Amino acid sequence: MNKALFSFEFFPPQTPEGTEKLTATRKRLALLKPAFFSVTFGAGGSTQDRTFDIVRQIQDDGHNAAPHLSCVGSTRERIRAILNNYKEMGISRIVALRGDLPSGMASIGEFQYANELVSFIRAETGAHFHIEVAAYPEFHPQAKSPRDDMLNFKRKMNAGADSAITQYFYNADAYFRFAEEIRKLGITAPIVPGIMPILRFSQLARFSDACGAEIPRWMRKTMEGFGDDVDSVQAFGLDVVTQLCEKLLAGGAPGLHFYTLNQAEPSIEIWKRLGLPR
Ligand code: FAD
Repeated sequence: MNKALFSFEFFPPQTPEGTEKLTATRKRLALLKPAFFSVTFGAGGSTQDRTFDIVRQIQDDGHNAAPHLSCVGSTRERIRAILNNYKEMGISRIVALRGDLPSGMASIGEFQYANELVSFIRAETGAHFHIEVAAYPEFHPQAKSPRDDMLNFKRKMNAGADSAITQYFYNADAYFRFAEEIRKLGITAPIVPGIMPILRFSQLARFSDACGAEIPRWMRKTMEGFGDDVDSVQAFGLDVVTQLCEKLLAGGAPGLHFYTLNQAEPSIEIWKRLGLPR
Protein backbone atom coordinates (compact mmCIF):
# COMPACT_ATOMS: atom_id res chain seq x y z
CA MET A 1 0.00 0.00 0.00
CA ASN A 2 1.27 3.49 -0.84
CA LYS A 3 1.83 5.20 2.49
CA ALA A 4 2.50 8.51 0.78
CA LEU A 5 -1.08 9.65 1.08
CA PHE A 6 -1.64 9.30 4.81
CA SER A 7 -1.88 12.66 6.55
CA PHE A 8 -3.05 14.35 9.75
CA GLU A 9 -4.84 17.66 10.20
CA PHE A 10 -4.49 20.09 13.12
CA PHE A 11 -6.11 23.37 14.03
CA PRO A 12 -4.04 26.19 15.58
CA PRO A 13 -4.62 26.15 19.36
CA GLN A 14 -5.77 29.29 21.16
CA THR A 15 -3.70 28.94 24.33
CA PRO A 16 -0.07 28.17 25.26
CA GLU A 17 -1.29 24.94 26.95
CA GLY A 18 -3.06 23.95 23.72
CA THR A 19 0.12 24.59 21.76
CA GLU A 20 2.15 22.48 24.17
CA LYS A 21 -0.37 19.67 23.90
CA LEU A 22 -0.31 19.88 20.12
CA THR A 23 3.49 19.58 20.09
CA ALA A 24 3.16 16.33 22.07
CA THR A 25 0.40 15.10 19.73
CA ARG A 26 2.49 15.91 16.67
CA LYS A 27 5.54 14.07 18.04
CA ARG A 28 3.49 10.92 18.58
CA LEU A 29 1.86 11.08 15.17
CA ALA A 30 5.21 11.80 13.48
CA LEU A 31 6.28 8.26 14.44
CA LEU A 32 3.72 7.01 11.91
CA LYS A 33 5.63 8.92 9.20
CA PRO A 34 2.69 10.59 7.47
CA ALA A 35 3.17 12.34 4.13
CA PHE A 36 2.29 15.67 5.76
CA PHE A 37 0.62 17.48 8.62
CA SER A 38 -1.95 20.03 7.49
CA VAL A 39 -2.95 23.08 9.53
CA THR A 40 -6.30 24.83 9.19
CA PHE A 41 -6.60 28.55 8.48
CA GLY A 42 -9.53 30.67 9.59
CA ALA A 43 -11.00 32.77 6.81
CA GLY A 44 -11.10 36.47 7.57
CA GLY A 45 -8.35 37.09 10.04
CA SER A 46 -7.74 36.74 13.73
CA THR A 47 -6.35 33.19 13.93
CA GLN A 48 -4.12 33.33 10.85
CA ASP A 49 -0.87 34.14 12.66
CA ARG A 50 -1.36 31.04 14.79
CA THR A 51 -1.52 28.94 11.61
CA PHE A 52 1.83 30.39 10.49
CA ASP A 53 3.37 29.59 13.91
CA ILE A 54 2.28 25.94 13.85
CA VAL A 55 3.33 25.53 10.23
CA ARG A 56 6.77 26.90 11.06
CA GLN A 57 7.12 24.54 14.07
CA ILE A 58 6.26 21.54 11.90
CA GLN A 59 8.80 22.53 9.24
CA ASP A 60 11.46 23.33 11.87
CA ASP A 61 11.02 19.83 13.28
CA GLY A 62 11.84 18.41 9.85
CA HIS A 63 8.31 17.34 8.84
CA ASN A 64 6.20 18.42 5.87
CA ALA A 65 3.58 21.02 6.70
CA ALA A 66 0.67 21.63 4.34
CA PRO A 67 -0.98 24.90 5.34
CA HIS A 68 -4.63 25.41 4.48
CA LEU A 69 -5.23 28.70 2.72
CA SER A 70 -8.74 30.12 2.50
CA CYS A 71 -9.35 33.03 0.18
CA VAL A 72 -12.76 34.47 1.06
CA GLY A 73 -12.46 37.97 2.53
CA SER A 74 -8.87 38.26 1.29
CA THR A 75 -7.07 40.17 -1.45
CA ARG A 76 -4.64 39.14 -4.17
CA GLU A 77 -1.91 41.13 -2.48
CA ARG A 78 -2.41 39.36 0.85
CA ILE A 79 -2.54 35.89 -0.72
CA ARG A 80 0.58 36.71 -2.77
CA ALA A 81 2.44 37.67 0.43
CA ILE A 82 1.37 34.44 2.17
CA LEU A 83 2.45 32.32 -0.80
CA ASN A 84 5.87 34.01 -0.90
CA ASN A 85 6.24 33.48 2.83
CA TYR A 86 5.42 29.78 2.46
CA LYS A 87 7.84 29.41 -0.44
CA GLU A 88 10.60 30.90 1.70
CA MET A 89 9.74 28.49 4.50
CA GLY A 90 10.20 25.55 2.15
CA ILE A 91 6.51 24.64 1.98
CA SER A 92 5.59 22.68 -1.13
CA ARG A 93 1.97 21.65 -0.50
CA ILE A 94 -1.09 23.84 0.11
CA VAL A 95 -4.73 23.01 0.79
CA ALA A 96 -6.59 25.71 -1.19
CA LEU A 97 -10.08 26.62 0.02
CA ARG A 98 -12.74 29.23 -0.27
CA GLY A 99 -13.46 29.17 3.48
CA ASP A 100 -16.56 30.62 5.13
CA LEU A 101 -16.91 34.30 6.00
CA PRO A 102 -17.07 34.79 9.77
CA SER A 103 -20.46 36.23 10.78
CA GLY A 104 -20.39 40.01 10.77
CA MET A 105 -17.67 40.18 8.13
CA ALA A 106 -19.26 41.97 5.21
CA SER A 107 -16.71 41.99 2.40
CA ILE A 108 -16.23 38.87 0.36
CA GLY A 109 -12.87 40.22 -0.86
CA GLU A 110 -11.25 39.57 -4.22
CA PHE A 111 -11.91 35.84 -4.50
CA GLN A 112 -15.36 34.30 -4.62
CA TYR A 113 -14.66 30.59 -5.05
CA ALA A 114 -11.78 28.19 -4.47
CA ASN A 115 -11.22 27.65 -8.21
CA GLU A 116 -10.16 31.33 -8.42
CA LEU A 117 -7.62 30.76 -5.65
CA VAL A 118 -6.23 27.67 -7.39
CA SER A 119 -5.83 29.65 -10.66
CA PHE A 120 -4.16 32.48 -8.76
CA ILE A 121 -1.68 30.14 -7.02
CA ARG A 122 -0.75 28.56 -10.36
CA ALA A 123 -0.40 31.98 -12.07
CA GLU A 124 1.79 33.30 -9.25
CA THR A 125 3.93 30.29 -8.40
CA GLY A 126 3.76 27.95 -11.42
CA ALA A 127 4.27 24.33 -10.46
CA HIS A 128 5.93 25.08 -7.11
CA PHE A 129 3.05 23.92 -4.90
CA HIS A 130 1.18 20.64 -4.86
CA ILE A 131 -2.37 21.97 -4.53
CA GLU A 132 -5.01 20.04 -2.60
CA VAL A 133 -8.67 21.12 -2.75
CA ALA A 134 -11.79 20.11 -0.81
CA ALA A 135 -14.27 17.52 -2.12
CA TYR A 136 -17.75 16.75 -0.80
CA PRO A 137 -19.04 13.18 -1.29
CA GLU A 138 -22.33 14.22 0.37
CA PHE A 139 -22.23 17.58 -1.45
CA HIS A 140 -21.47 21.04 -0.19
CA PRO A 141 -24.45 22.51 1.71
CA GLN A 142 -24.56 25.63 -0.51
CA ALA A 143 -24.44 23.77 -3.83
CA LYS A 144 -27.39 24.38 -6.15
CA SER A 145 -27.52 20.68 -6.99
CA PRO A 146 -25.24 17.63 -6.73
CA ARG A 147 -24.48 17.96 -10.44
CA ASP A 148 -23.48 21.64 -10.02
CA ASP A 149 -21.29 20.74 -7.07
CA MET A 150 -19.44 18.13 -9.12
CA LEU A 151 -19.00 20.54 -12.02
CA ASN A 152 -17.68 23.14 -9.59
CA PHE A 153 -15.30 20.52 -8.24
CA LYS A 154 -14.14 19.83 -11.80
CA ARG A 155 -13.59 23.57 -12.25
CA LYS A 156 -11.17 23.52 -9.28
CA MET A 157 -9.29 20.53 -10.66
CA ASN A 158 -9.10 22.11 -14.13
CA ALA A 159 -7.74 25.30 -12.57
CA GLY A 160 -4.66 23.29 -11.58
CA ALA A 161 -5.35 21.31 -8.39
CA ASP A 162 -3.36 18.08 -8.02
CA SER A 163 -5.51 16.13 -5.59
CA ALA A 164 -8.38 16.46 -3.15
CA ILE A 165 -9.28 15.72 0.46
CA THR A 166 -12.92 15.04 1.25
CA GLN A 167 -15.21 16.38 3.90
CA TYR A 168 -15.74 13.62 6.44
CA PHE A 169 -18.57 11.14 6.02
CA TYR A 170 -19.64 7.86 7.62
CA ASN A 171 -21.25 6.28 4.57
CA ALA A 172 -18.59 4.70 2.35
CA ASP A 173 -21.03 4.43 -0.56
CA ALA A 174 -21.22 8.24 -0.77
CA TYR A 175 -17.44 8.31 -1.33
CA PHE A 176 -17.39 5.49 -3.89
CA ARG A 177 -20.29 7.00 -5.80
CA PHE A 178 -18.64 10.45 -5.80
CA ALA A 179 -15.31 8.99 -6.96
CA GLU A 180 -17.08 7.14 -9.78
CA GLU A 181 -18.99 10.21 -10.97
CA ILE A 182 -15.84 12.32 -10.85
CA ARG A 183 -13.97 9.75 -12.96
CA LYS A 184 -16.79 9.97 -15.51
CA LEU A 185 -16.05 13.71 -15.71
CA GLY A 186 -12.48 12.81 -16.67
CA ILE A 187 -10.81 13.53 -13.32
CA THR A 188 -8.18 10.96 -12.41
CA ALA A 189 -6.49 12.80 -9.52
CA PRO A 190 -6.41 11.13 -6.08
CA ILE A 191 -9.43 11.90 -3.89
CA VAL A 192 -8.36 11.10 -0.33
CA PRO A 193 -11.16 10.47 2.20
CA GLY A 194 -11.20 12.77 5.23
CA ILE A 195 -11.68 10.69 8.38
CA MET A 196 -13.26 12.12 11.53
CA PRO A 197 -12.67 10.00 14.65
CA ILE A 198 -15.55 10.22 17.12
CA LEU A 199 -14.74 11.81 20.46
CA ARG A 200 -18.04 13.29 21.67
CA PHE A 201 -21.48 12.89 20.15
CA SER A 202 -22.72 16.44 20.85
CA GLN A 203 -19.61 17.97 19.27
CA LEU A 204 -19.87 15.69 16.23
CA ALA A 205 -23.58 16.46 15.79
CA ARG A 206 -22.86 20.21 15.88
CA PHE A 207 -20.02 19.96 13.32
CA SER A 208 -22.06 17.71 11.08
CA ASP A 209 -25.08 20.02 11.05
CA ALA A 210 -22.83 22.93 10.11
CA CYS A 211 -20.90 21.25 7.31
CA GLY A 212 -23.58 19.01 5.84
CA ALA A 213 -21.98 15.66 6.77
CA GLU A 214 -24.56 13.00 7.54
CA ILE A 215 -24.45 10.91 10.71
CA PRO A 216 -26.49 7.85 9.70
CA ARG A 217 -29.56 7.34 11.88
CA TRP A 218 -28.35 4.02 13.29
CA MET A 219 -25.13 5.69 14.46
CA ARG A 220 -26.89 8.76 15.84
CA LYS A 221 -29.43 6.64 17.75
CA THR A 222 -26.74 4.35 19.15
CA MET A 223 -24.64 7.27 20.37
CA GLU A 224 -27.65 9.10 21.80
CA GLY A 225 -28.40 5.91 23.70
CA PHE A 226 -25.01 6.11 25.44
CA GLY A 227 -26.01 9.43 27.01
CA ASP A 228 -23.10 10.87 29.04
CA ASP A 229 -21.08 7.67 28.77
CA VAL A 230 -18.22 9.11 26.71
CA ASP A 231 -16.15 5.91 26.90
CA SER A 232 -18.90 3.93 25.18
CA VAL A 233 -19.31 6.61 22.50
CA GLN A 234 -15.56 6.51 21.81
CA ALA A 235 -15.38 2.70 21.78
CA PHE A 236 -18.31 2.59 19.33
CA GLY A 237 -16.69 5.37 17.27
CA LEU A 238 -13.41 3.46 17.01
CA ASP A 239 -15.19 0.35 15.74
CA VAL A 240 -17.31 2.22 13.22
CA VAL A 241 -14.53 4.46 11.91
CA THR A 242 -12.04 1.57 11.64
CA GLN A 243 -14.58 -0.42 9.61
CA LEU A 244 -15.18 2.63 7.41
CA CYS A 245 -11.41 3.01 6.77
CA GLU A 246 -11.05 -0.70 6.00
CA LYS A 247 -13.86 -0.51 3.48
CA LEU A 248 -12.45 2.64 1.87
CA LEU A 249 -8.92 1.24 1.52
CA ALA A 250 -10.19 -2.13 0.28
CA GLY A 251 -12.33 -0.29 -2.28
CA GLY A 252 -9.37 1.63 -3.71
CA ALA A 253 -9.19 4.89 -1.72
CA PRO A 254 -5.67 6.28 -2.25
CA GLY A 255 -5.00 7.04 1.42
CA LEU A 256 -6.62 8.61 4.48
CA HIS A 257 -6.54 12.15 5.90
CA PHE A 258 -7.33 12.21 9.63
CA TYR A 259 -9.08 15.20 11.17
CA THR A 260 -7.25 14.71 14.47
CA LEU A 261 -8.92 17.50 16.48
CA ASN A 262 -5.37 17.86 17.86
CA GLN A 263 -5.51 14.47 19.62
CA ALA A 264 -3.11 11.63 18.85
CA GLU A 265 -4.79 8.65 20.48
CA PRO A 266 -7.90 8.09 18.29
CA SER A 267 -5.92 8.26 15.02
CA ILE A 268 -3.15 6.02 16.42
CA GLU A 269 -5.70 3.46 17.60
CA ILE A 270 -7.41 3.38 14.19
CA TRP A 271 -3.98 3.14 12.52
CA LYS A 272 -3.09 0.13 14.73
CA ARG A 273 -6.38 -1.61 14.09
CA LEU A 274 -5.92 -1.12 10.35
CA GLY A 275 -2.52 -2.81 10.64
CA LEU A 276 -0.79 0.12 8.94
CA PRO A 277 3.02 0.20 9.18
CA ARG A 278 4.58 1.88 12.23
P1 FAD B 1 -15.65 26.08 -3.19
O1 FAD B 1 -15.00 24.98 -3.92
O2 FAD B 1 -15.46 27.48 -3.70
O3 FAD B 1 -17.22 25.73 -3.15
C1 FAD B 1 -18.11 26.46 -2.29
C2 FAD B 1 -19.53 26.36 -2.82
O4 FAD B 1 -19.65 27.16 -4.01
C3 FAD B 1 -19.98 24.96 -3.24
O5 FAD B 1 -21.35 24.86 -2.96
C4 FAD B 1 -19.73 24.93 -4.74
O6 FAD B 1 -20.58 24.03 -5.43
C5 FAD B 1 -20.03 26.38 -5.13
N1 FAD B 1 -19.17 26.86 -6.22
C6 FAD B 1 -17.84 26.62 -6.37
N2 FAD B 1 -17.36 27.26 -7.45
C7 FAD B 1 -18.39 27.92 -7.99
C8 FAD B 1 -18.53 28.77 -9.13
N3 FAD B 1 -17.46 29.07 -9.87
N4 FAD B 1 -19.76 29.26 -9.40
C9 FAD B 1 -20.84 28.96 -8.62
N5 FAD B 1 -20.77 28.16 -7.53
C10 FAD B 1 -19.57 27.65 -7.23
N6 FAD B 1 -12.49 26.17 6.11
C11 FAD B 1 -11.69 27.12 6.64
O7 FAD B 1 -12.13 28.26 6.87
N7 FAD B 1 -10.38 26.85 6.96
C12 FAD B 1 -9.83 25.64 6.72
O8 FAD B 1 -8.65 25.45 7.01
C13 FAD B 1 -10.64 24.62 6.14
N8 FAD B 1 -10.13 23.41 5.83
C14 FAD B 1 -10.90 22.49 5.17
C15 FAD B 1 -10.32 21.28 4.76
C16 FAD B 1 -11.07 20.34 4.08
C17 FAD B 1 -10.40 19.06 3.61
C18 FAD B 1 -12.45 20.57 3.82
C19 FAD B 1 -13.29 19.54 3.13
C20 FAD B 1 -13.03 21.77 4.23
C21 FAD B 1 -12.27 22.74 4.88
N9 FAD B 1 -12.80 23.97 5.27
C22 FAD B 1 -11.99 24.94 5.85
C23 FAD B 1 -14.22 24.26 5.04
C24 FAD B 1 -14.45 24.97 3.70
O9 FAD B 1 -13.79 26.22 3.68
C25 FAD B 1 -15.96 25.16 3.54
O10 FAD B 1 -16.56 23.92 3.31
C26 FAD B 1 -16.38 26.20 2.53
O11 FAD B 1 -17.78 26.44 2.71
C27 FAD B 1 -16.18 25.79 1.07
O12 FAD B 1 -14.87 25.81 0.73
P2 FAD B 1 -14.41 25.17 -0.69
O13 FAD B 1 -12.99 25.46 -0.85
O14 FAD B 1 -14.89 23.79 -0.81
O15 FAD B 1 -15.28 26.13 -1.67
